[in-house]
Amino acid sequence: AAEEGFDIEDVEGAIEAAGHGPLPVLAVVGRPNVGKSTLVNRIIGRREAVVEDKPGVTRDRVTYEAEWAGRRFKVVDTGGWEQDVLGIDASVAAQAEYAIEAADAVVFVVDATVGATDTDEAVVRLLRKAGKPVVLCANKVDGPSAEADAAMLWSLGLGEPHPVSALHGRGTGDMLDAVLEALPEAPAQTFGTAVGGPRRIALIGRPNVGKSSLLNKVANEERVVVNELAGTTRDPVDELIELGGITWKFVDTAGIRKRVHLQQGADYYASLRTAAAVEKAEVAVILIDASESISVQDQRIVTMAVEAGRAVVLAYNKWDTLDEERRYYLEREIETELAQVAWAPRVNVSARTGRHMEKLVPAIETAIEGWETRVPTGRLNAFLGELVAAHPHPVRGGKQPRILFGTQAGTKPPRFVLFASGFIEHGYRRFVERRLREEFGFEGTPIHISVRVRE
Ligand code: GDP
Ligand code: GDP
Repeated sequence: AAEEGFDIEDVEGAIEAAGHGPLPVLAVVGRPNVGKSTLVNRIIGRREAVVEDKPGVTRDRVTYEAEWAGRRFKVVDTGGWEQDVLGIDASVAAQAEYAIEAADAVVFVVDATVGATDTDEAVVRLLRKAGKPVVLCANKVDGPSAEADAAMLWSLGLGEPHPVSALHGRGTGDMLDAVLEALPEAPAQTFGTAVGGPRRIALIGRPNVGKSSLLNKVANEERVVVNELAGTTRDPVDELIELGGITWKFVDTAGIRKRVHLQQGADYYASLRTAAAVEKAEVAVILIDASESISVQDQRIVTMAVEAGRAVVLAYNKWDTLDEERRYYLEREIETELAQVAWAPRVNVSARTGRHMEKLVPAIETAIEGWETRVPTGRLNAFLGELVAAHPHPVRGGKQPRILFGTQAGTKPPRFVLFASGFIEHGYRRFVERRLREEFGFEGTPIHISVRVRE
């Protein structure tokens, strides 16, 4: 590496940075208007505006990446939620429950200027039950005079209240230090406990695509093994289902089966639940209603799974209802609307008739295989050498940037670091990704490519 002009420490640092496994997940929960979204904005460094002024605006995005003191983690924001027909306590509890379920640690936000309310107490009970580490954020402590309000929150029994002004940034550093102490280095529940255990599948898709029908179909025809894995009682919504002779863990099946009819905020709930399930899973089986046009909501769900770095299988459901014409248009729509996951294995199923159910398992296995693929450095560099020689990067400003060497820094999903002599254009990166896929497979998995440029 050194002879190519890269410092060995740079190379090692780049590989380490790119090769991180799945990130631990932090959930931010609390009543409406306590400042959750403002706090999330603070935590992620305002890279994305998440505070909406207009009530009723649907936000699909609920998971963000953040970094503090050199450690990276994901943040699940529950601030996009609105009170619904269930009433405030039930609603806050339900949204907090989903977020807590998927999280490795929780920031519980309380408005210190208001003090602890009955709803706050209800969330405290949930937090106790879940047993996850909690950092208590006493928000809206904009100045020293409000510190006393924060101290009142000792009464919640969650330990030290951290006085914070999410709006002005006051106290957020100390609170984040506490968050890092509470967060495990790697997400314990997603992968730590899954080693050697059943694979985790998130069955996701917009409402009415047929998720519960599909789950019922596979669970009835095959066999529901047990409802609980020994020792994982805090995971009551996951279900073990035997399919194709293999036991799989379908995560958040309660979310699929629960028929809570919500008016306001229903889309947001659905997004939160989807994000939570995706966080817990290794594979996302994305169900799409083939009888209807592919929608923006379908695309958002796909993006969620891809951005989370999960293995992906696309299942086009309700195939029994398709006529010749619809089939024609569906193929056109897939090409244009779902180009971002052209690499995902696809099955055309019917949860009603059972059509092609047996193809689901091979597709899932293919996706997992791609997700776990590791290309040896020697093979990768032989490939890159040939690629660069045959298809050099276009000359820019009299110079020709070149990929010098590369390495796969991690799997699940595959992550590559390429070292280059100059800026590599987006189009060329895409080209490299395409060729990597042609050469090594990677069916059913997103791949990450980062490029380091020699100074
Ligand atoms: P959420 O519903 O819990 O996500 O709350 P928001 O983040 O949307 O904040 C609700 C309101 O409280 C907004 O008007 C914020 O500007 C305000 N707010 C949030 N944090 C603070 C704070 O630290 N101090 C003060 N004074 N206001 C805040
Ligand atoms: P979910 O909201 O994604 O869980 O969707 P459901 O499983 O509740 O299904 C929504 C509707 O689609 C129900 O009326 C189902 O009977 C119907 N449905 C689900 N799968 C199929 C299918 O393969 N073919 C047909 N024709 N209808 C289906």
